[in-house]
Amino acid sequence: MSSASKDFTYSVDADGVATITWDTIGRSMNVMSSDGFLVLDGMIDAALKDASVKGLIITSGKKDFAGGMDLNVLADMRKGGAQTIFDMIMGTHGILRKIERAGMDPKTLKGGKPIAAALTGTALGIGFEIPLACHRIIAADNPRAKIGLPEIMVGIFPGAGGTTRLVRKMGAMMAAPFLLEGKLSDPKAAKAAGLIDEVVAPEDLQKRAKDWVLAATDADIVKPWDRKDYKMPGGAPYHPAGYMTYVGASAMINGRTQGAFPAARALLSAAYEGALVPFDVALKIEARHFTSILLNPSSSAMIRTLFIGKEALEKGANRPDAPDQSVKTLGVIGAGMMGAGIAYVAANAGISVVLIDADQAAADRGRAHCEGLLDKGMKRGKVTADKKAEVLSRILATTDYAALKPCDLVIEAVFEDPILKAEVTAQVEAAVGADCIFATNTSTLPISDLAKASERADQFIGIHFFSPVDKMNLVEIIRGKATDNRAVAKALDFVRQIRKTPIVVNDARFFYANRCIIPYINEGIRMVAEGVAPALVENAAKLVGMPLGPLQLVDETSIDLGVKIAKATRAAMGDAYPDGAVDKVIFAMADQGRLGKKSKSGFYSYSEDGMRLSLWEGLAPAYPVATRQPDLVDVQHRLLMAQVLEAVRALEEGVLTDIREGDVGAILGWGFAPWSGGPFSWLDIIGADKAIAICDALTAAHGPRFTAPALLRDIAAKGQTFYGRFDVQITAA
Ligand code: NAD
Repeated sequence: MSSASKDFTYSVDADGVATITWDTIGRSMNVMSSDGFLVLDGMIDAALKDASVKGLIITSGKKDFAGGMDLNVLADMRKGGAQTIFDMIMGTHGILRKIERAGMDPKTLKGGKPIAAALTGTALGIGFEIPLACHRIIAADNPRAKIGLPEIMVGIFPGAGGTTRLVRKMGAMMAAPFLLEGKLSDPKAAKAAGLIDEVVAPEDLQKRAKDWVLAATDADIVKPWDRKDYKMPGGAPYHPAGYMTYVGASAMINGRTQGAFPAARALLSAAYEGALVPFDVALKIEARHFTSILLNPSSSAMIRTLFIGKEALEKGANRPDAPDQSVKTLGVIGAGMMGAGIAYVAANAGISVVLIDADQAAADRGRAHCEGLLDKGMKRGKVTADKKAEVLSRILATTDYAALKPCDLVIEAVFEDPILKAEVTAQVEAAVGADCIFATNTSTLPISDLAKASERADQFIGIHFFSPVDKMNLVEIIRGKATDNRAVAKALDFVRQIRKTPIVVNDARFFYANRCIIPYINEGIRMVAEGVAPALVENAAKLVGMPLGPLQLVDETSIDLGVKIAKATRAAMGDAYPDGAVDKVIFAMADQGRLGKKSKSGFYSYSEDGMRLSLWEGLAPAYPVATRQPDLVDVQHRLLMAQVLEAVRALEEGVLTDIREGDVGAILGWGFAPWSGGPFSWLDIIGADKAIAICDALTAAHGPRFTAPALLRDIAAKGQTFYGRFDVQITAA
């Protein structure tokens, strides 16, 4: 017997209701393994064969139902190649179809045994695809539970019938957010959307499932798509209404993803082609598309980065050994855009916050910003009035540094001015206890330099948030030269409390994220100066999966900020400064008052109310578009390599110490082409030899900034990959 046989238990009660209880050994969350499927299959067979069994409940022995597939199964499937993947999926379809048909006569649709799924809590991926095959889905009213099919977020799509069943259950239009965006719902929202059938009090769950099973009639257990008169909700694709749905969905996906995400395209194909044929053929089509997606390197890279790597970092993969450093009282200095955002996420996580600004009105504005965010949450039904009051009661807005006394962590988010930051550091250190950790949210100033203003440089660290703080999940933690392990542990424990994803990097100009983003923006601007059509630059970026083209990005972050950074960098680098051509463009824009989105004018033009309209026509006279335009791929290589080579250099120089942080940080921090799994995964996908060939060609055409770093050359010479060389295991955490 395999160990998976213990993941499920089977029992039959005195009333003839069998219960299969899922309880994966050694895990806090149920996950499905290959063996687990076989065990489940055996139990379904037993229940269907046993004449004394009237019906069946599938439930969980844990507080949640299931988190999805064991990722090692996906890795094993991949190793087996296309036929193995296809066969394994068809095997899964067989089991779920057996649940769905439940022993009924295929002609009369009579005589089947009712099967209810009783969801104790979260049900994701295969953990929701199994319930979708059951005849009734009943969930415990557990507002923290998440129900849905998030596969698309990691580069695959629901391949155990989830795609086919949801489209047939709800229609393509209604299913779209759940399939294409991986939208998750709490039980009540899932019921309202039609994903599940009932929500009951947790203590009533098993009884309600049993009552339903005992009362269910033959008609109750036939799925609509197994009836002769089945019509697809919203219309089949060959009817005018349904046709428009698919045209619309196709346009929407391509508009959003620019075709850069293979999984989204395959999902849509599976849904569309599946809708044209009978159910069992649709499952086969789904399996075929799923096979091709699983073999696409994008899916394994996305899973590795966005699931395994991200979770490992969140669980403290790089946390130094130190006692628990959970933050009890946080001080935030500077109640501007960043400081108010930091105060909000901390208070939301149950941490008391002292929010300080230079005058009371500014401090109050910061607190009001938090209130505004809570009000938005209330409008969307996510925040109750009590919760709002509770969160706000944790934020003390003041100008009085003495109020910082109880703080065990203080984060400074005042203007980006080293002299001001030094003053604030001294003022804070005079007010807090000796153990308090001091963090700066600077985006550009070296931490070790700022630490010179500190009496306790070992307790001085960078905690760099991204804007807007409430939405952006990455936090970059920067270790200064003197920063000790306790300070790093403190920062990591704080990031864990506020449920964001940390990366820990060493101190160097622009740390990691900004170091890679700035060359991306600069490469785009440089091309405009060279006469490359601005639309080509922007579209090339989007077609390769970047969320914003470089020109839109600099408009969003503001052109005057670019000017400020350029001036500071030039001052620091002297003659070695490489970006004179870029500066000409942005300095001229700034001189004309075109500061980007905030001034409603930049590389784009904007409407009066700040809506981005189109690329600014005034660019053409200043930077005439050359008659000969580069190939799309050349533009994309320039834009990608500008970022990726910085990531490699950051690794080479020891700024990054873990390539997972490089990949996770890139996607979460600035949206680096998520389909690729991040810069290191992208290099592994194309291979080091090809990467060097691209670098050599770009260097010859555009200069030494594209020179392949020695590390990349060494990896190519040894026939390695980044993930192979740095030995990061692709196993689930
Ligand atoms: P901001 O101008 O919105 O806010 C700065 C706040 O600091 C203002 O409210 C100001 O009144 C206050 N302040 C100034 N001097 C003070 C003092 N002596 N004591 C207390 N408060 C004082 O700026 P921001 O955009 O929130 O940026 C703050 C910091 O965060 C900067 O270091 C910036 O580089 C960094 N940062 C900004 C972003 C971003 O996208 N804006 C992203 C990451 C990091």
